[in-house]
Amino acid sequence: MRTRAAVLYAPHTDYVVEEIELDPPKEGEVLVQFEASGMCHSDEHMVTGDMAMDQEVLDMLGWQQYPIIMGHEGGGVVVEVGPGVTELSVGDHVVTSFVPSCGRCPSCASGNQNLCDMGAHLLSGHQADGTSRHHTLDGKDIATMCCLGTFAEHSVVHLNSLVKVEPDLPLDKACLVACGVTTGWGSATYAADVAPGETVVVIGTGGVGMNAVQGAHLAGARYVIAIDPVEFKREQAQQFGATHAVATAEEAQALLGELTWGRNAEKVIVTVGEGKGADVGTYMGLVAKGGKLVFTAVADMKANDVNLNLFDLAMQQKSLVGTIFGSANPRYDIPRLLGLYRSGQLKLDELVTRTYGLDDINQGYQDMRDGKNIRGVIVYGS
Ligand SMILES: [Zn+2]
Ligand SMILES: [Zn+2]
Repeated sequence: MRTRAAVLYAPHTDYVVEEIELDPPKEGEVLVQFEASGMCHSDEHMVTGDMAMDQEVLDMLGWQQYPIIMGHEGGGVVVEVGPGVTELSVGDHVVTSFVPSCGRCPSCASGNQNLCDMGAHLLSGHQADGTSRHHTLDGKDIATMCCLGTFAEHSVVHLNSLVKVEPDLPLDKACLVACGVTTGWGSATYAADVAPGETVVVIGTGGVGMNAVQGAHLAGARYVIAIDPVEFKREQAQQFGATHAVATAEEAQALLGELTWGRNAEKVIVTVGEGKGADVGTYMGLVAKGGKLVFTAVADMKANDVNLNLFDLAMQQKSLVGTIFGSANPRYDIPRLLGLYRSGQLKLDELVTRTYGLDDINQGYQDMRDGKNIRGVIVYGS
């Protein structure tokens, strides 16, 4: 079939919205018609080239990076199921899970679905079987982000990348739990394991960080200090449960001195748009003795340098942990978070600053770069 998609042909270029050829679903796969897709900052790393790999490495792995259909925060309706798919039916409402969960690998079986072995395919550009369903009209394979490609009216994705949701939930809000909400919320509640009464700092309050603020607040933190250079995001953070919002880490340091009598924050969560090793020392300076720094942000794949005082790390018994997908279990946590949304305890509507049609995707990403959006959402058919 033919569908319309936003195709990225190379780093540092605009998305091209055009018709593509989409193959029918193979074994274990599903054709989804998307109603909405969040515009996550992670997709931007293929535009800036932070996630671009050397061609010889790609050739060795048999991977493809460009052209690519980005987008991994989708909500849609099942239109067709491939052979062997019994747990989803035509008409089911689904959100994508940017990490698939097979349910059988050691990670899934031990309750760490965010680390599913199928994640090995996430950057391959292909489906799990190593082939493509997406092609240009002249027959060239098109890669997909996280085996999904939600910046398209339709996509064929593996069953393991989909979570069925209740059909009355608005998909233009529910799609946000496919990545940003769960990642931020889980960064606070799982990776940082925020406990009642703790002081938490969240660095960068965009679509992920705002949910780390919500998660820390729901977990009972006494103080939640949001750091963001954009005034609009600082104002918004207080709506999501931040007790304080400042523009820089230096301001947060001074504030922590007053609020905690110099003890600092038990938990610091880094959810900036692009993680930089040079800043880790500054972030660690906000962490209390025995406290934890959680690193959620995506960084340049090829960067190895970190500025960190190891004496301070050991003698103050601090820890530094990374997390993907907020250390959450998508099949458990996506429905759970949507339940919290339904009961009014998790804010999703307020995360959506603006909506766009697919044709306006380049404007949407420019607004993100300009700090105008907590989350921009593409609504198909709008
Ligand atoms: Zn994302
Ligand atoms: Zn698995």
